[in-house]
Amino acid sequence: MKLALLSDIHSNLEALEAVLPALSEVDRILVLGDIVGYGPDPNAVIARLRAVRARAVLGNHDAAMLAPSLLDWFNPHAAAAGRWTQAALTPESRRYLASLPKFGRLGPHRYVHGSPRKPYMWEYILDDLQALEILVRLGPRFCFFGHTHLPRIFTAEGEEIPDPGEWITLPAAALVNPGSVGQPRDGNPEAAYAIVDLATPAVRFGRVPYDVATTQAKIRSAGLPEVEAARLALGR
Ligand code: ZN
Repeated sequence: MKLALLSDIHSNLEALEAVLPALSEVDRILVLGDIVGYGPDPNAVIARLRAVRARAVLGNHDAAMLAPSLLDWFNPHAAAAGRWTQAALTPESRRYLASLPKFGRLGPHRYVHGSPRKPYMWEYILDDLQALEILVRLGPRFCFFGHTHLPRIFTAEGEEIPDPGEWITLPAAALVNPGSVGQPRDGNPEAAYAIVDLATPAVRFGRVPYDVATTQAKIRSAGLPEVEAARLALGR
């Protein structure tokens, strides 16, 4: 079985539409949370994910749409974008977000937004010692995660910053972050995704350019914070 991993789409329809044609070989699309927030197209992104029957988990920006007090924890620009998104969401989109679990299972494997450690406090997995603690508890399975917007593989061997385009063999236990579709923060503005071949098992990271200028124009005309437009061209 082949899976596509998409994370942190953040209401960026142009980035999502650029990535979807690269996923034709996969049996299932997993979305690792933060479907909305920051960007200008929350309802269209949700509709597109429903149309391709993606399986998704809830991210912290998605959760803030259902529990507005969570926006108090966000930086001012993210909170402003969150309030804009709350007003823009249709009842149908809101129902969709409310239906999402915080934790997903696919056979023995797991997928989450931030970290599989309970309680779900939107932990950022950033270093190899932290990842090792999680791997030890996880046992011989994969956990797919997002939240940091950085493509990464963590195994018992440590952290790997993967090059896009080549198949990377996975050991029995690994934490895999595909990076962000809609707001990459690794200095590369191209939309990020990953394909996992569970049979091998192996992962291949991918990047695709998209029409950043169109997304930026939509952000500006919506009155969303300027920083959320500017950062897309930088991948930061
Ligand atoms: Zn995010």
